[in-house]
Amino acid sequence: KTFRSRQSLWDRLRGQPLPIVRALNGVTLEVARGETLGIVGESGCGKSTLARCLVRLYDVDEGRIRFEGGDVSTLKGQARRQFNRRVQMIFQDPFGSLNPRMTVGQILGEALRVHRMRPAAEIALRMQELLDLVRLPPDSLDRRPHAFSGGQRQRIGIARALALEPDCLVADELVSALDVSVQAQVVNLLLDLQSQLDLTILFVAHDLRLVRHISHRVAVMYLGQVVEVAPAEALFSNPRHPYTRSLLQAVPSLDPTQRRAQAAVLGELPSPLAIPSGCAFHPRCPHAIDRCRQERPRLRRGQGSGEAACHLADSLPAWRNEAPA
Ligand code: SF4
Ligand code: MG
Repeated sequence: KTFRSRQSLWDRLRGQPLPIVRALNGVTLEVARGETLGIVGESGCGKSTLARCLVRLYDVDEGRIRFEGGDVSTLKGQARRQFNRRVQMIFQDPFGSLNPRMTVGQILGEALRVHRMRPAAEIALRMQELLDLVRLPPDSLDRRPHAFSGGQRQRIGIARALALEPDCLVADELVSALDVSVQAQVVNLLLDLQSQLDLTILFVAHDLRLVRHISHRVAVMYLGQVVEVAPAEALFSNPRHPYTRSLLQAVPSLDPTQRRAQAAVLGELPSPLAIPSGCAFHPRCPHAIDRCRQERPRLRRGQGSGEAACHLADSLPAWRNEAPA
């Protein structure tokens, strides 16, 4: 039966243009050198898509991504290689992104050679430096990824990215597959590396507490749009967008009696194929008014230090968070 209904869906789609999902819509963000920008939102909000667009794994068909003022989609040849070197992505699953047949030395050596970062004679020295930077034992070079723990593999991934001497790291759910205690180690390593190497970091994650800890500023995404962006402390202590408030209330509580109430805060996310009119959050928003159904709110400044895309951002009741910080 399932087969048949799939078949008929296929029949209906055959010859039809495929539906276009706008994964990102009107996202405007700036990141300053040396800054950590956290990007949060429920799964499916477009945060991974945004991360992939930033490192040019995906092309954007409208809009622009600028790096040091230049449009990255027009980069060619040497300039493009420079960009690919200077902006590095580190992935959630280090096992999937590290070749299991290569030793750590080969993995790092390859990165160094492909981008001709160093004369061959210096490569061995540089590999030791990299191990030092990510706090892996000096004898790691001859071992393969499976000989390491999850947290260590993540360090290998970071070392490989650093081999190219990037200015900017884009981390997508960098530590979400790791145990909580290991998460803290990797995140603290990242913070140390940032101040040591003056890195700019885009930290995409769904764990709000982690994002608060690591970020200077935080952007909240909802259905492909940025709905609020503010300095981390301001965002967590005085969120101005109703969606941000719901997210903070939904932070899972350790107290089981509170859990059900929190799960009920958000309800179901609308399909990206049918994004609601006006403010995309209006079907789930406890404050929605008529205007919200018709007019899409733009991201703008108001009271406080950030920007929010909500018609009522400055007239909501004062925020009082019942969830634990
Ligand atoms: Fe809610 Fe309206 Fe603000 Fe959207 S614009 S978040 S629906 S109050
Ligand atoms: Mg994702």
